[in-house]
Formats: sequence, structure tokens, C-alpha cells
Amino acid sequence: MLSGLLDKMATSYESPVEYQLVLGDERLPLNPYLGKKLTLKFSGKILCGHCGKETKKSYGDGYCFPCTQKLAQCDICIMKPELCHYDKGTCREPEWGLSHCMIPHFVYLANSSGLKVGITRHTQIPTRWIDQGAIQAMPVFEVKTRYHSGLIEKILSEHVSDKTNWRNMLKGNNEKIDLKSERDHLMNIAGEQIEMLEDELGLGAFNYLENAEVTEIEYPVLEYPTKVSSMSFDKKAVIEGTLMGIKGQYLIFEDGVINIRRHSGYVIEVE
Ligand SMILES: [Zn+2]
Repeated sequence: MLSGLLDKMATSYESPVEYQLVLGDERLPLNPYLGKKLTLKFSGKILCGHCGKETKKSYGDGYCFPCTQKLAQCDICIMKPELCHYDKGTCREPEWGLSHCMIPHFVYLANSSGLKVGITRHTQIPTRWIDQGAIQAMPVFEVKTRYHSGLIEKILSEHVSDKTNWRNMLKGNNEKIDLKSERDHLMNIAGEQIEMLEDELGLGAFNYLENAEVTEIEYPVLEYPTKVSSMSFDKKAVIEGTLMGIKGQYLIFEDGVINIRRHSGYVIEVE
């Protein structure tokens, strides 16, 4: 038995992806539990991932409400990077902004529940894609800052979704997509807007990754659910059953799925 503060699952890019349940300082490899019984028990306690104080409810990726009002990573510009206000001197945590936002980012195309566009820090590839349950992904632009990636994403999202339908992602019958030809098509219809943006920002702001390769991602799944019902520790203190698979940040049990990342900060026991 292990117990501790739940965090998002750690992953390593293997074929299939290897998952670890993170409980405080401990890590439990999950792939060996496929087809076996797994029990997760919520203690009733939720701790803020930043200040460590107990909170009734977890916000964002596991913070108490006051911390969501102070942390840069909980600011609106993280969800909408085109609203980055670092240059105005109003970043909530300029040092964090400098090390997390004012660094190279990628704009990518992925196939999670169909084609989508997204952005990520250069250090988060392929972690970000795995967390979204993408089965294929490919970087399209490398840019200097999160802000720049947000501006490109905004243009591309007029033509391609920027969201994952998690229910469809978990049903697992996604067809493969030819990402390179989708990218070429996108550049045909949005290329002019992107060029205008590049002129505005100055040459060298974007690096178009013409020769990027597609990353294919396989997940440890024995059987995909036909009907996806969501489970949460907020409704049920004990979640148990035969582990049928892991995809994105979800554990797939025979009778439902649980988003582990959504429960960051919950103190749980595992058997
Ligand atoms: Zn807090």
C-alpha cells in the first residue's frame, strides 16, 4: 500500500507509453496493473500544490483558491497566451514568466480526438502530447515565446479545433490522419495571415519546421470503453476495479474513467 499527495501521472515515451502514479515522492509504475485490480482511496483531504494548505476544493491543476489568484500559471494568459502581458510589466510572477513563457515554444498539430492545434514549451515534447492522449503529433512552428505561439494558434484555430473531445479520445477508435498534408493544407489557407504576423513581429520570430517528423504514440490499453462514464473522488471515495487501460491522464476501468490530473492535490491511498 502507498499513500500520498496525488499529482499528474508521470510518463515516459515508450511503445506503449509507460505511466507512473505520482504520490508525493513515491512513484508507482502502472503498466504492470493492466488487467489487474487497482484500488484508489481518497482520504478526504485536499492540499494546495503551492502553499500546502488544506482546501475544500482544488482549482486549476491542484491549487487553493487564493493561490489561483496569485500564481502566474493560473492567470488567464496561460489559457489564452495571446493575452500575455509580460511586456507590460504586469506578469504575476515575472521570474516564472521568464523561465516558462519567454522561452522557445512549439505550435503543433496533433490527433487526439481528431485534428487539433496546440502549443507547448519546447521541454514538454512529447509529454504534452501524451497528456492529451494524442496518437500522432507533429511540431509546425518553433517560436521565441509563448505569446508568439498563442498568436499563431489563434490564427490556425480559425480552421482547426484547439480542443480535445476527451470522451472521443477515450473511445480510442480514432483514425490516423496524414498530419503533413493537413499542415500543408493549413499553410495554404492561413499562410498569408501568418506571414503578415511575422512581418509585424520582426523577421526570425517564427521558424517553420518544414521537415518535422510525425511522432506516433501508443497507449497501454487492453480494451477501450464503448460508453465513457466519468468517476471522481468528489462523488466516490473509493475507486476500484480492473484497470483496462491508460490514455492521456485518464485511468480506464471496466465501469468508468478517472482523470488523474484533475485530482492533483488529493491525498489518496493505493492498493
Ligand atoms: Zn494555496
